[in-house]
Amino acid sequence: MQLPELLKTYQSVSLPAYSAPAQRPAMGQHNDRVYALQQAILQAKLDQLAAEQGLAAALRALYDQQVDIGFIQDDLSQVSYFRYRAPGNHSQHFFIVQFNPRRAERVKGAGRTALPRGAQVQDVADTSCYLCIDNIRWQHRGVQGYYQYCVNERVYNALCNPFPFTRTHLTMAAGEHLPQTFHVTGSAEQTQARIRRIVEDLYGISEQLPTFVGFYNGAGAGASIEKHLHFHFFEITDGHGSFPIQAAARLARQSLFGHASAGDPAQVVQVPDYPLTAYQVRGPKAEAIEAAVDLAVGWDRRAGEAASANIIALWEEGAVSLYFVPRNKFYTRSPGLAGMVAGLETLGEFIFSAPDEQRAINEQRVNYDYLWRILEAVRPAEDGEQS
Ligand SMILES: [Zn+2]
Repeated sequence: MQLPELLKTYQSVSLPAYSAPAQRPAMGQHNDRVYALQQAILQAKLDQLAAEQGLAAALRALYDQQVDIGFIQDDLSQVSYFRYRAPGNHSQHFFIVQFNPRRAERVKGAGRTALPRGAQVQDVADTSCYLCIDNIRWQHRGVQGYYQYCVNERVYNALCNPFPFTRTHLTMAAGEHLPQTFHVTGSAEQTQARIRRIVEDLYGISEQLPTFVGFYNGAGAGASIEKHLHFHFFEITDGHGSFPIQAAARLARQSLFGHASAGDPAQVVQVPDYPLTAYQVRGPKAEAIEAAVDLAVGWDRRAGEAASANIIALWEEGAVSLYFVPRNKFYTRSPGLAGMVAGLETLGEFIFSAPDEQRAINEQRVNYDYLWRILEAVRPAEDGEQS
């Protein structure tokens, strides 16, 4: 493209709807225009990839672009994995620990928090929110890109994490600034509507990503940002194998159930021999969603203000399975774990990143029972009280 044409394209890019347009300086507008242009090109390129090869291809490309531009600050080269088997020769139960020292840095945050002059955009409820896309152009100085797509006719933005926990780890942020919690004080109807949306969308995204695992971490159940509805998704690397909760669920199913097939109602199995109360939900899409919504609504009714959950979606035997783990939102942490007990931990995989945790691994203090106790510490009683 010749320079005059390029400048014409640049001029034609519309600026965000500033709350106070007169305050935005000329070079600030220049930055915003360049960002909008760059983002439009990225979106078009990823849309093309998604159309040709599916959503996963677009997400992998976004991840690669974000590594290259330096938004993703951890290349994951320092991560090591450990597998801890349950005592006894024949036990097939285990837990996984990934030690990721760079993840400890994530608490420092990667973005700037002071808004440049006049950059505030109309309709942005909260300029400190990292998941509202009108904030990210200035928070991350133009290097953070995103990919926008629709699920169940609702907009989601796929965003990378500066300190991912594995390759192609993405945050799927709702297009609107809605709270993460499903519990709406005083309204069973609104609570149920939120639960339904969460389960439908988690399922809908997972359906398009057969090699990924997706999580909804409720308020106080590992959600790092509680003010904006989001899911975590990441691609399960080759050779990772099943998560411990899947292995536990499989052992139960072998003795109890046959395979799910179309037309069968959803099958709900409480995962046995597991430190958390957890349910595996399988079956045809509509029935599986209904069954998971029922579990969450029932839990909300029992636990009230304390109600929270981890809901996990991943593919098993050619279809999406859901795991529902009820949580008490006032019990987020466990002794022995520096971070929060979130969706990944409820699957039986723990992220250790603190020096104390490294010492515990090296001194062989970490074992199956140690990890069991971490999960057990956040298991609520049936009535919602902490047991
Ligand atoms: Zn937001």
